[in-house]
Amino acid sequence: MTDMNLPDYKQQSDAVRDRFDRLKQRPVTMEVRGLHKEFATRGGTVQALKDINLKIHKREFVCVIGPSGCGKSTLIRILAGLEQPTSGEVLLDGKAVTKPGPERGMVFQGYTLFPWLTVKQNVMFGLVESGYDKNTAEAEARQWIDLIGLARFENSYPHQLSGGMKQRVAIARALANKPKILLMDEPFGALDAQTRAKMQAYLLEIWKNIDVTVFFITHDLDEAVYLADRILVLKANPGEIDELIEVPVPQPRHPDQFLSAEFLATKKRVEELIHPPKEDGDDDHLNLVRMVPVSDEVGSVF
Ligand code: ADP
Repeated sequence: MTDMNLPDYKQQSDAVRDRFDRLKQRPVTMEVRGLHKEFATRGGTVQALKDINLKIHKREFVCVIGPSGCGKSTLIRILAGLEQPTSGEVLLDGKAVTKPGPERGMVFQGYTLFPWLTVKQNVMFGLVESGYDKNTAEAEARQWIDLIGLARFENSYPHQLSGGMKQRVAIARALANKPKILLMDEPFGALDAQTRAKMQAYLLEIWKNIDVTVFFITHDLDEAVYLADRILVLKANPGEIDELIEVPVPQPRHPDQFLSAEFLATKKRVEELIHPPKEDGDDDHLNLVRMVPVSDEVGSVF
């Protein structure tokens, strides 16, 4: 991280304060109330989540970041209805979430398309399951495939697509059911840096044009600051909210903003929370010793 003097990300301009005031006046799409989750293990219990409270507003983009084991996956699984909390509740448009449902679209890191179905059949799948007749489902699926720019590939099978294309189909499949919220668990984590940047741009473009709220887990700081209205930073043991950061970078986002003072200041804050300075010495110090004779003095070359 740069040493330049960055503003405190919390010193918001009037415009940013106004943006978040307006965001919080929007209806609440998903509310998490007093959520606790314990897992029984051989040695006792693990408290995966402790007292999580959160309101996600309509069309908000929330990113979640935190160290490994802080409960990110457990949280998103509970929001999806795939896991039950030990106590507390999750409400979607005021109604309790108890099981998976089409109003919550999921996109995971691993490629989850049905390998035996074509792109079009994958996108149609949920629509047919929820009672659409085949022709309507096909027409709807085509619209979504067009939107993600894969019309030429509608009859291709997943193995014929690149990783980025597969994730575009997974997003189309999730959106085809017109979910109120898109739950994304490190969806671009397996992609190379260039494809990942493209996918981030696609997702922002889709989000701008569709009435959907996004809850997105990542471990990439740049990705979190670039995509999110707010970043939920979790800490581990037990998994609880460390800070909820209002990202002051103006919307709509653009890659030029990666070097803006607001962007870097927000990233610095997230980094401080995730990698706090160690109190008792620097454990990451490398004890380098020369194991082999070295002929040229690297230090003197530069
Ligand atoms: P993250 O996704 O942030 O890495 P997880 O939600 O996977 O964190 O896990 C949070 C904590 O809960 C960890 O300590 C993990 O070991 C524990 N945990 C998660 N799932 C289970 C399970 N099914 N049984 C026991 N412990 C679990």
